[in-house]
Amino acid sequence: MRIGHGYDVHRLTEGRKLLLGGVEIPFEKGLLGHSDADVLTHAVMDALLGACALGDIGHFFPDSDPAFAGADSLKLLEEVMRQLRARGFRVGNVDATVLAQRPKLAPYLDRMRENLAVRLGVAPDRISVKATTEEKLGFTGSGEGMAAHAMALILEADDR
Ligand code: MG
Repeated sequence: MRIGHGYDVHRLTEGRKLLLGGVEIPFEKGLLGHSDADVLTHAVMDALLGACALGDIGHFFPDSDPAFAGADSLKLLEEVMRQLRARGFRVGNVDATVLAQRPKLAPYLDRMRENLAVRLGVAPDRISVKATTEEKLGFTGSGEGMAAHAMALILEADDR
């Protein structure tokens, strides 16, 4: 078994869609980034890559590459899983937390879990997505941005 951690931050701005775990959430602002800026999916990818000591998403999907402009992060996650599977890794479970003052994310968490589980090739009960505020403190509390943490347990094939 291997364990990995991922952390990501994106700024909130007007005129962008808010996508978390591939779920579009109605809100007056969205996250700014080269890709679709899905901060949750980015943290999950970094946890997966970290567990396998494969670097981070900046290595696989550089933000200087126009190919990834506006990229669908769930598609990037599919590519991360191709990289893992090619090396004999599979997912045990993932636990993630989104840090956001607003909006309330609880109604969307199960859809995020399902979106991630399908890409990771596991049942949704192996994927946990939680949300918390930071009590109006710091950049998430002021609504300047959102952050996400993720932990991933990875299983190695016996013959790896
Ligand atoms: Mg990111």
